Parts: sequence; C-alpha cells; structure tokens
Amino acid sequence: MEFLPLFFQLNNRPCLLVGGGAIALRKANLLTAAGAQVSVVSLTIDDQLQDLVDSSGGQYYCQAYSDAQLLGVELVVAATDDLATNTRVSVDAQARQLPVNVVDQPALCSFIFPAIIDRSPLVVAVSSGGHSPVLARLLRSKLESSIPAAYGQLASLLGEFRSAVKARFEDIEDRRSFWERLLEGPVAEMVFAGRRDRAEALIVSELERDQGTGLGEVYLVGAGPGDPDLLTFKALRLMQKADVVLYDRLVAEPILNMVRRDAERINVGKARAEHRVPQPDINALLVTLAKQGKKVVRLKGGDPFIFGRGGEEIELLAQEGIPFQVVPGITAASGCAAYAGIPLTHRDYAQSVRFLTGHLKDGSCDLPWQELVAAGQTLVFYMGLMGLEMICGKLREHGRGDDTPIALVQQGTTINQRVLTGTLATLPGLVSRQKILPPTLLIVGEVVNLRRQLSWYEQLAGSDGAEQ
Ligand code: SAH
Repeated sequence: MEFLPLFFQLNNRPCLLVGGGAIALRKANLLTAAGAQVSVVSLTIDDQLQDLVDSSGGQYYCQAYSDAQLLGVELVVAATDDLATNTRVSVDAQARQLPVNVVDQPALCSFIFPAIIDRSPLVVAVSSGGHSPVLARLLRSKLESSIPAAYGQLASLLGEFRSAVKARFEDIEDRRSFWERLLEGPVAEMVFAGRRDRAEALIVSELERDQGTGLGEVYLVGAGPGDPDLLTFKALRLMQKADVVLYDRLVAEPILNMVRRDAERINVGKARAEHRVPQPDINALLVTLAKQGKKVVRLKGGDPFIFGRGGEEIELLAQEGIPFQVVPGITAASGCAAYAGIPLTHRDYAQSVRFLTGHLKDGSCDLPWQELVAAGQTLVFYMGLMGLEMICGKLREHGRGDDTPIALVQQGTTINQRVLTGTLATLPGLVSRQKILPPTLLIVGEVVNLRRQLSWYEQLAGSDGAEQ
C-alpha cells in the first residue's frame, strides 16, 4: 500500500486552503462537509468559496501565501495553479509535520483525497494512490449504484444500539454473531423500505431474546417483462439473498439465473391449460416457508400489483404477521411499448391510457366497451390473444373506427420480441395466419402509428417478414 486509508476527525479543526478558484472550492466542499473550519489564502476568491469560508467560521486572507499562515493550522491543502507556490506550501507544511495535500501532485502530498461514497455515517473511500483518479472515480460510480442510499440510515440506527448490545453480550464473539444474525434478517430491508420504526422495534425484541425471531420474510418482487436489464436494483438485491424462490411461467430463464445460486426454486405456474398450483396453495406456501425462517422471494412477471394477484398473496402474510415487502417492476405495457417504439400517450393522439384484461370468462369479456371507444385514449390489453377477435369486434361494434391501429407484441423486451401491426379490421386475420408465442400484449390506438418512426429496436432488427 502506498497510502494507508485513515478517516480524519476534522470537526471544528482549522484547515488552510491555498488558492481561491474552482478546484479550491471542491476541496472546501469536502472539508466543510466534515465540519472543518476552512480559511483561504489567495489574491482572489470564488463567491461560493467565500460563503463556505464564512459559514465554516474560517477567514479569508486576501494576500499572497506565506508560511506564517500555517501557524495554528492542522491540515493544509494547496490548490493554486502555480507549481512554485504549491511546492512551497508542501515543503513548509511538511517541515512543520502538518498533513498536506497538493491537488494533482501526488509527489508533493503527505495525504491524498480518495473518491468518496457518502452514506454518512457510513463512508466508503476509494483511491488509486494518485495513479489514476479517473479509475478510482469509475469504481466509485459502480459502488454508488450497488450501495443503497439508505445504508447510512442503517449504520446510524445500528450505532444507536452499539452500547446496548455491548452491555447485553460481554463476549466479543457473541456480539459479532448477534450483529451478523441481525443483519441477515429483515432489519436492513425494513430500513431500506423506510420502516425505521419497525426495524428499531425488531432490534429491541432481538436484544430481549437469545435467539432470532425464527420468522423469515417474503419479498413479492416484480421481475419486469423479460429483459433482465429491466430488473430494479432492489429486485436484484433481494433475489441474491433468497433462500427459496417461487416463480411462474412469465419469469424468463435469464432472470431466474440471477437468483442466488443455492436458493431452492419452486415453479408454481405452468403453461396455460397445464396444471398450476392454485392461488390459495401459493399463499399458504409463502406463509409456511417464512415460518421456517426462510427468506422467500415470490418472483412475478412485470409488476406484482398489475394483473399479478399480488394483493391476494400478501393478504394472508399480513394476517399471519409475516414481514413482507412488495417490489414494483416494469409492467408489460411499459416494457412492450418502449421496446416496440409505441409511446402510450402522446399530446396529439392519446391523453390517457388504460390497462385492461382480455381474459375471457366463459367466452365473454365484461368490459365497459362504450367508454373504451372514446377518442384520445390508448388501450392496452393484457392476456388478450385468445380474445383478439372478440376485442376487435366489440370495439368496432361500439363505434371505434375499423382503421384504428392495433399492435400485437409477442414476448416483448426479449430476444423473441415480434410486433405485428394492423387495424381492428385486419389484425385478427393476420394473426390467425401466424404462429404466435405467448405472452402477448395488445395495444390499441393512434399511437401505434408512431412506431415506424420511433422503433430503434425494429430498425436494428431489420424488417420482420410478418410485419404489416
Ligand atoms: N403482472 C404482469 C402481468 C401479468 S398478466 C405485468 O405487470 O406485466 C399476464 C399477461 O401479461 C400476459 O398474458 C401478457 O398479456 C402480458 N405480458 C407479460 N409479459 C409480457 C411480455 N414480455 N410480452 C408481452 N406481453 C406480456
């Protein structure tokens, strides 16, 4: 290691910045974020920097640098664009054993600023030892996206319990295993979900007993329409800590492969007409597994609360007092529309959009057709393939024009995506001559016509032979 990472307590400590420009301002931002009292010596000063100096309780010296200014200072930063001045500051500071940083001159530094991920009180510092600050910043942005914003809140909550845990467990090993057990349980997720009160109550009750609650947790996770890149960070994080995952046919293989490798997989939904686990049994299974102390991920296609029966699944969990969370996902309508180049609303063509189910009960579909034919709206039918002919017929019968554009999106957002377009009059016939693979979505309305201009996906893929 060329530099040892240390965290410096600077609260109310006098620090000197030599230089008054944009670079000095960046450093002043960091120093004042840590509570330092920042003074600046420079012939000119940036306005924002002047404000920071004032609010931190420091002084602005409008003069050239001289070593007299190092008196009483505990840390020095040189941020001028003059190498000779920067070198003098470095030499003078080091002669007085003061920690000194010279911006962009590692050889003149006794300490360097790392790239910082600030989840205060949790702080992650990344450094390349001055070899490649850009590389350090790249790594920082990767870490930024994988460390939830609420980690800081988690750290501060845990900090509040440190002394209580110390008092409860004398042995350091016992303390460590308590914290590990706690962090593997639902506490962290509760904080991330904004339920600090519940997390706090849980820590208190954990402290009062020797063992954990024994209760697991259920995560109802929206897996999006197919493309694994459309998963949310939260979905991925929970999938990677699952002990068991329940999924159904809408969840594509590449997404399942992102679940923790050792997790048990249970398929609860097979293709149409084949046997599938009845809904009450799924609900009961979630409860049973959670009571065994497992972290259960219930993976659902799209969004769990849009034609996903998510509400039914959590009802029983709530009754049984099992902790659960619902993670939204990108619903098929959004995914298919975006990947097919069909905006669901448009100022000229559609001021509203309706999500409907075309699922047929006894061959009929009880929808308010009269409302659906009004102009200026886009209709999206989920589960509409079987009823395509009936849907087009009903819309025409109730007055929507025969030439109203309609698109059928097959396996949207996946590599098998195909889009067939036509009109209410032509699409049923066109589709009947094709082999269509489920799942499919129907989009009805003028916005479908925009697809030619807007679909980069189709432009990349080239024209599909079946395309109309
Ligand atoms: N909760 C899901 C919808 C479940 S209902 C969501 O929010 O997307 C199942 C229906 O969703 C399917 O019959 C089909 O109409 C639609 N669907 C889901 N994924 C799809 C995809 N990748 N392409 C086209 N339609 C899809």
